[in-house]
Amino acid sequence: MDRVVTASAANGTVSFVAGTTTELVREAQRRHDLAPTASAAVGRLITAAALLGASLKGRERLTLQIVGDGPIGSITADAWNGGPDVIATRGYARNGYADLPLNARGKFDVARVIGNGQLQVTKQYEVGRPYVGIVPLETGEIGDDIASYLANSQQIPSVVALGVLADPNGIRAAGGVIAQLLPGAADDTIARLEANAQSMAPVTTQIAEGADARALIERLADGMLLRAHENVYTATFDCRCTRERFERALIGLGRDELLKIASEQPETEATCDFCKRRYVLTSAEVEQLVAKLD
Ligand code: ZN
Repeated sequence: MDRVVTASAANGTVSFVAGTTTELVREAQRRHDLAPTASAAVGRLITAAALLGASLKGRERLTLQIVGDGPIGSITADAWNGGPDVIATRGYARNGYADLPLNARGKFDVARVIGNGQLQVTKQYEVGRPYVGIVPLETGEIGDDIASYLANSQQIPSVVALGVLADPNGIRAAGGVIAQLLPGAADDTIARLEANAQSMAPVTTQIAEGADARALIERLADGMLLRAHENVYTATFDCRCTRERFERALIGLGRDELLKIASEQPETEATCDFCKRRYVLTSAEVEQLVAKLD
């Protein structure tokens, strides 16, 4: 079961959120039949959405979208409140088959599969206009780009580590940890956090060796006093698509277009980008939609 845990340290001047997302990323890989490099890229962005999703309240929603000039095209990941202490996420890539050789360090070449581009962060509130923040990609490795967004748009210095470990048998481990410095953080706290971030093993190595979300935080917060209070969430892959939504989109085409579709095609189908669920309407059902327009 994937878990996301939050905590704070140093008298509340550093906040942490960490999660294991191995099952989530496996589910995304399976639904979209993602190639290895694409699964690393999508998996890192879904992990970021799950971690940042821990701060959503009520019916708020978060969307992370990366658009680059590399072979993957774009990647989108969403997070929302999926019930009591549940963070629901979903994600997909425009070209999930994008794959490249490992980079010089022997890692998935996420930076090159994404290319140059931008990260857009959209937060929808229960009421009012959404917040939209856009930053140019720092490295395209996603963790660095999320850190750049938090530093530039939110004015919060942070450490972001995200990872997906895979082998020919599939996703072995995925997860991440984010530390955010809040106003009033002492210099030695900042220095300690930077030193810990430098010296810690990659998150996927830690997870593959058995670390859970809390252990990821304890490692990054080494030498700091962690506050006992924490929140624990379950993170799941989910989707908000419904048959009604597909029908509404069809109705939006208008009466003439619907009649044309009903007469030309025995069946009309659509596949949800996010979860790959297929929706099929027969021509008789399309005609019934026309009746709703009258
Ligand atoms: Zn869907």
